[in-house]
Amino acid sequence: MALPQQTDVLIIGAGAAGLMCAANAAARGRNVVVVDHANKVGKKILMSGGGRCNFTNMEILPKNYLSSNSHFCKSALARYTQWDFIALVLKHGVAYHEKKLGQLFCDHKAQDILDLLLAECDQTGTKIYSHCNVKNIEVLKESELPKRYKITTSMGDIVCESLVIATGGLSIPTMGATGFGYEIAEQFGLKLQPRMPGLVPFTLSPAQLESLKDCVGNAIEVKVSCGEQSFTENLLFTHRGLSGPAILQISSYWSPGQIVRIDLLPSINLNDYLLAQQQQRPKVLLTTLMSELLTKNIAQVFCDKAIDIRPVNQYTPKELQLIADVFHGWDIMPAGTEGYRTAEVTLGGVDVDCLSSKTMEAKSQPGLFFIGEVVDVTGHLGGFNFQWAWASGYAAAQFV
Ligand SMILES: Cc1cc2nc3c(=O)[nH]c(=O)nc-3n(C[C@H](O)[C@H](O)[C@H](O)COP(=O)(O)OP(=O)(O)OC[C@H]3O[C@@H](n4cnc5c(N)ncnc54)[C@H](O)[C@@H]3O)c2cc1C
Repeated sequence: MALPQQTDVLIIGAGAAGLMCAANAAARGRNVVVVDHANKVGKKILMSGGGRCNFTNMEILPKNYLSSNSHFCKSALARYTQWDFIALVLKHGVAYHEKKLGQLFCDHKAQDILDLLLAECDQTGTKIYSHCNVKNIEVLKESELPKRYKITTSMGDIVCESLVIATGGLSIPTMGATGFGYEIAEQFGLKLQPRMPGLVPFTLSPAQLESLKDCVGNAIEVKVSCGEQSFTENLLFTHRGLSGPAILQISSYWSPGQIVRIDLLPSINLNDYLLAQQQQRPKVLLTTLMSELLTKNIAQVFCDKAIDIRPVNQYTPKELQLIADVFHGWDIMPAGTEGYRTAEVTLGGVDVDCLSSKTMEAKSQPGLFFIGEVVDVTGHLGGFNFQWAWASGYAAAQFV
């Protein structure tokens, strides 16, 4: 199959941001073509949220995003809000629910969100081509205006007025992720912020893993902190290290060599609790008490780290404080992360100072737009990354 020879708007990347941009630009009456090198479009949407796509969050705030310029995301997020996307979800009759912390998921499957986007594209006449490899991007002479770019692909050449890069980040290469968007940014002299896996499990050293092996499979609510940032959510002990939402969240703020502090009992004051237990149940073993607050295995492993096991009335106040300190302040130095193989997002990317926050157009390159994850805007876990994809895609769609 061959591409049309020209179009108003060419979008590279048929993921969340690309499809959103396509439907909205086409709704403005623009001729839109979307190309994707993968065999199927929207693969990350399909695998998101454990197959149910956490498509947005009830509370979207700029503080839920990491970027070298924390103000950049504000404009787009304000012009296309979570309520706008929820309205679209309702228009298409997609059943959804709030899971926790404002996170909205499909009742049935993530395919509902992809179908919604494809239906919007279809209704507006957007043409989508999968299996299409982009080989070259050439800037046309001024005399060719309004046509600005000639794109050479495996499906032929296409000339366009606006070129939108929506190729996403580096996470999950097996799903079609590439660094193509960054290469294009470099081709046009745009700055890149360093890229790193985000929302990713931590790995631990063999010695750390050995000491925690009895905890594998156990999950508890913790408060995890790194620098100024902290999150109170679940932690999961795994065969490779630490995972669960609390760990994924903090991983985006972690740099190699930094210590992560974990409070295993964020909702109580353990010292006060143990003092009270000395009065109420003096003969009960420390491990029994701690098993009531945590899982049996976690209690045992961390009591062993803290002190020898005795009935609770046999500890001095100083020893009780020491036990409390171990459970409230477990400091751990991750060996690393699981990397792009399992990361949900890529931190960093196209420097936002090179882009207009209103239009997503490169300031130095008329007609070239960057949207979605390829841009140096990364959300927390909880639907924030899709909301950025929708909002940045919508913003660009008004100007392409
Ligand atoms: C396992 C997993 C679960 C997730 N769950 C959630 C969730 O529940 N909620 C949430 O908010 N976020 C979630 N995310 C993050 C979210 O999926 C991304 O932030 C979002 O998809 C980014 O949208 P995008 O359009 O920028 O990129 P993508 O959706 O990744 O789309 C990029 C597209 O570009 C195409 N492409 C790449 N390179 C090329 C190339 N060279 N030529 C042509 N096409 C190319 C790809 O094939 C792809 O179709 C999850 C991510 C993962 C990996």
